[in-house]
This record gives sequence, structure tokens and C-alpha cells, in this order.
Amino acid sequence: MGRITGPVCRLCRRDGLKLFLKGSRCDTPKCAFERRPTPPGMVQKRRSKATDYGLRLREKQKVKHFYGVLERQFRTYFARASRGKGNTGETLMSLLERRLDNVVHRLGFAASRAAARQMVMHGHITVNGHRVDVPSYLVKAGDLVRVKNRVRSLQLVHAALADFRRDVPSFLSRGEGAVPEGRVDRLPAADDISLPVQANLIIELCSK
Ligand code: SF4
Repeated sequence: MGRITGPVCRLCRRDGLKLFLKGSRCDTPKCAFERRPTPPGMVQKRRSKATDYGLRLREKQKVKHFYGVLERQFRTYFARASRGKGNTGETLMSLLERRLDNVVHRLGFAASRAAARQMVMHGHITVNGHRVDVPSYLVKAGDLVRVKNRVRSLQLVHAALADFRRDVPSFLSRGEGAVPEGRVDRLPAADDISLPVQANLIIELCSK
């Protein structure tokens, strides 16, 4: 049998849950995690019990892998969340969820966050009528996220929408016009985060 797992599938196994990093493949029986959820290199044995530090680190890595952000960028989000008035963990997750690449993915315009990132960087997406090619751009309530009205952009997005099998989260709404668009109805709250994560553990780790 041919090799079916790439490095991203290893991240799912390492973090112990499906991170949906490979687009439509993640929803099929070909998903490497469905086939073998143990971490790479492990045959039957479970890993030894994680330390408190290990648990916290795993939660942080999970979030970084899920949203595709590097350590430095993650620290910036954490610093910004810490300065806010509300619950730091919820603010942190809300900031990550507001990233334009995440919004493009959750609207169904791209099969994965990685594909959405590339789509944004290649100029296929506009926000409030202006081209935005920065995947980390943070959307605000009321923003209109639209696909560029040009053949290549529409082809890409219509192909992704045809494969899209998840619900659009309640903080977003998707228009049904010929040119796909979505509106940010409100800022994302804790309930809108699709990743099961204990944000308090991340805060404990990053606060030290
Ligand atoms: Fe790979 Fe997606 Fe399955 Fe994760 S969820 S193991 S990325 S196919």
C-alpha cells in the first residue's frame, strides 16, 4: 500500500486529535488519524504519562498547528489577549479565530486553513471591497469577506464550496450570490471555536 500520510497528518497523531489540516481528505476514510491514531513510531504502546508542563505544551502546540501560526506570532496574540479586559484564554482563541485565513476556510472558500492562507496571499480575497493579502488580518464585526470577481478566483472557491461538508459557524453568514461572500456578524465567542482545547492551560504556560 502506498504512503498516504504527510507531515501534517503526523501533527494530528502527535496532538491526539483530528486537526483537519488536509482539506476534504480529513472527512474521508483515508484520514490517517482514522486509520491509526497513535503517534508516529508507536506500535501498540501508549506514551508515558505527560507531566503538567507536557500537558500545557501539548495544548499550545495543538492550537498553533490548528491555526498554522508560529511561536513568535503566537506570543504576539498572547500578549494582545493579556492586555484585554476579558478572559485571556477566550480572547486569545477569539483573536486566532478572527484571522482572515481562518474565516475564509470556515466560510468554505478553501478546503483547509493552509489553502485559505495561500488564497489570501495570492490576492483572491477582498475585505469590504479592498484586496487583503495578509492571512493574519483580523476581521471585525460587520466586515464583508468576498472572493475577487475574476475567473481563477471563482474557480478555486466554487471547487472548494462543492466539497465543503461542515456548517458555517454562527458568527459568520454566507451569501448565496454568484460571487461567494460572507459577513462577519459578530466577533467569535468561546462556543464558536471548533478545536477542543483547554485555553487555561496555555495561559498558565505562557504566563510564566
Ligand atoms: Fe491528516 Fe486531516 Fe486526518 Fe489530520 S484530520 S490525520 S490532517 S487527513
